[in-house]
Amino acid sequence: MRRNAEELAKMRRAGKVVAEMHAVAREVAKPGVTTAEIDAAARRVLERRGAASNFLHYGHPPFPAVICTSRNAKIVHGIPGPEVLEEGDILSIDCGAIVEGYHGDAAFTMPIGRVSAEAMRLIEVTEASLMAGIKQMTVGNRLHEIGRAVQRVAEGAGFSVVREYVGHAIGTAMHEQPQVPNYWPGTPGPTLKSGMVFAVEPMVNAGRPETKVLDDQWTVVTADGSLSAHFEHTIAVTADGPEVFTVP
Ligand code: MG
Ligand code: MG
Repeated sequence: MRRNAEELAKMRRAGKVVAEMHAVAREVAKPGVTTAEIDAAARRVLERRGAASNFLHYGHPPFPAVICTSRNAKIVHGIPGPEVLEEGDILSIDCGAIVEGYHGDAAFTMPIGRVSAEAMRLIEVTEASLMAGIKQMTVGNRLHEIGRAVQRVAEGAGFSVVREYVGHAIGTAMHEQPQVPNYWPGTPGPTLKSGMVFAVEPMVNAGRPETKVLDDQWTVVTADGSLSAHFEHTIAVTADGPEVFTVP
């Protein structure tokens, strides 16, 4: 699906709301704070900007918050609640916003206070893998080159890439087809054209790539209990190269 200039303008605005939610979340998240408090702060940004949440009530059972908070071995889809952040944790925050029917979706992982050198390296490598993927988003390139680049960075650093959860096209729905794997799936995939918009979101584990879902039916954790990090942006393919929407 290719978006016209008017649609891209709406997605740009949705992206800015998501970036503001990230900035607020980053400020609130510190040792002693609960993940529910971060969700509440993000909710106030949506209200202030007149934007809707694409996370709240999503799926089955309906997701109960406007952000996902995934701490340490949690990969994605952690539910905010009474969980208290501690010095040394790493925390992934994923959230989205809808502006005039158009969606933004982005995630980042941050250290809570001082963290181990290995945890910091996982965060930095995961972000670098996203940036390497975004660089592939040029007109005429093939979609699966994104995942190939992500995988090269993550595995090159000795980490592993999650297979069961992937990025996605995005527009009038949060999750549109096609999917964007974070690894080379064996075929090059569709040719990238200007106006296509994707949420690219590498999930990188310090240990093995396998995942499992907790009894809450949402929270995805590493099967081996190792740390995991997650970075995501919503990005358009344009004639001038990739344009990241989920930035201030
Ligand atoms: Mg997301
Ligand atoms: Mg996403």
